[in-house]
Amino acid sequence: MTILFEHDAALDHITPPGHPERVERIQAIRRALASDEFRGLDRRTAPIGARDDVLRCHPSTYIDRIAAAIPKDGYLSLDADTHVSSGSLTAAYHAVGGACAAVDAVLAGEDQTAFLLMRPPGHHAEAATPMGFCLLGTAAIAVKRALDHHGLSRVAVLDFDVHHGNGTQSLLWDEVRALFASSHQSPLWPGTGGAHETGAHDNVINAPLAPMTGAREMRQAWSDVILPAIDDFAPELIIISAGFDAHAQDPLANLNWVEEDFIWLTRAIRDVAQVHAGGRVVSTLEGGYDLDALASSAAAHIGALME
Ligand SMILES: [Zn+2]
Repeated sequence: MTILFEHDAALDHITPPGHPERVERIQAIRRALASDEFRGLDRRTAPIGARDDVLRCHPSTYIDRIAAAIPKDGYLSLDADTHVSSGSLTAAYHAVGGACAAVDAVLAGEDQTAFLLMRPPGHHAEAATPMGFCLLGTAAIAVKRALDHHGLSRVAVLDFDVHHGNGTQSLLWDEVRALFASSHQSPLWPGTGGAHETGAHDNVINAPLAPMTGAREMRQAWSDVILPAIDDFAPELIIISAGFDAHAQDPLANLNWVEEDFIWLTRAIRDVAQVHAGGRVVSTLEGGYDLDALASSAAAHIGALME
């Protein structure tokens, strides 16, 4: 029916006033998921992540450096976009723990699909560099848990956030057992994600989308480029970096997707998961900054995971 992993630690990562990646994002999605339509969700608490899981993607010196930077009060800026408060690292650790628990649960056959409702997001964090609101590479860490802890041979991570998942791409660049595929607006921050970036083992697929494009271009890119590549790779598990900032109302980008597009894409990903992965899909929240569009789009995505 779909397992939902969440933890109130997501509300203790406080960003400065006016910052788009804010506590209200989680609260907006929670309100949307309070309707009867979502009564069937198997709601679970995201456990704190294990340092060993984080260490598959980040060096211990990096984790210690972030921990040392966490302020007792107020905020500390790690770069122009990325800030930490007293609860930030704990929140990031619960995001990692929830993603890994979601992998464990779907691989144990407890459900086919799971969604991680946590923040901060993760797909911009590189091995030793926080970036773009992200501290830990949650999706890549979940991929590594599936590969190294569970012994899978092929895991795909599909990223439909409007920004390129530079962090996930770099963390998995050399990982022959992982496929990273992304559609994203280009040009747009962070500037990576050209179609010529293909990974050390042809294991990276990038499908840049021009500003102001919408459903037709997105569906064409996924149908012609990304979905066939996933089909060829035949993943045993699919992890989604689910950002909802490609929505037409989003203030940080200029694509024109609507809720129906997220449903179409979720169903398309589930179809390929049914063929190769026993239907197993773990989806993790990335971006999405218009609260109404974020809530309705995340609800549409989760609804399609529950079908
Ligand atoms: Zn984004």
